[in-house]
Amino acid sequence: MDVDDLIILGHAVPDQVEDWYNCVCLAGWSPTAGFVRIFPVPLDSGISRWDVISVKLKRDHRDRRAESWTIKDVKRHWENIQGLIQTTGKLEREKRLPLVQRLLVGCVEELWQNRASLGIIEPTQVEGFFLLEEIFHPQPLRVDGITVPRPARTYPTHPRIYYKCSRCLGKSRHDHQLMEWGAYEWMRKAPEDLDQFWENIRLYDPEFKHYFFVGNQSSQRTSFMVISVLSFQI
Ligand SMILES: [Zn+2]
Repeated sequence: MDVDDLIILGHAVPDQVEDWYNCVCLAGWSPTAGFVRIFPVPLDSGISRWDVISVKLKRDHRDRRAESWTIKDVKRHWENIQGLIQTTGKLEREKRLPLVQRLLVGCVEELWQNRASLGIIEPTQVEGFFLLEEIFHPQPLRVDGITVPRPARTYPTHPRIYYKCSRCLGKSRHDHQLMEWGAYEWMRKAPEDLDQFWENIRLYDPEFKHYFFVGNQSSQRTSFMVISVLSFQI
């Protein structure tokens, strides 16, 4: 599938990776292809949120979710990914909130009912926190003296968010892991000041309206995560 109108909505830190260390999962929405997830993408692809990208995609036999794709020939061109995935523009600021509102569903459970693996919800009763894991898979923080990004499961702590959706079908609040790459980067760079992250993204600031771009896990499709927090100053 060739897509030339994919609007990037989030970068997720990989949950589990084998040989793909320095990579993220990119996800977004295309007017022609709908929601799209691309994995793996190198950390240094230079692509940011709201970029419009052009990319040639193919199916990945390891991930059968309808929205999941991999870049054609990605392994062969890993060091020179710019030839395979190009930023062609950026969605204008005034078009972002209308797009998000047009794609909204009432609750993450609706996504599961519709067999959708990506979607956007409007949260209420939001509370961010960091959960200390008893079991994790440690990896060296530093390689050649430089701190390196790592997949999510190698961190001892995970950012999570309690929330209800605007038309929530759940009895209690959802409790979902935040997979946003920026959250993991904050944990890596400022481990002594974790709670500042919620201030950084203005999670409780009444002057900001938030939407959650959510997706499920390939191995556990009923289990959803927050891929990114889309914030708008009001
Ligand atoms: Zn809900």
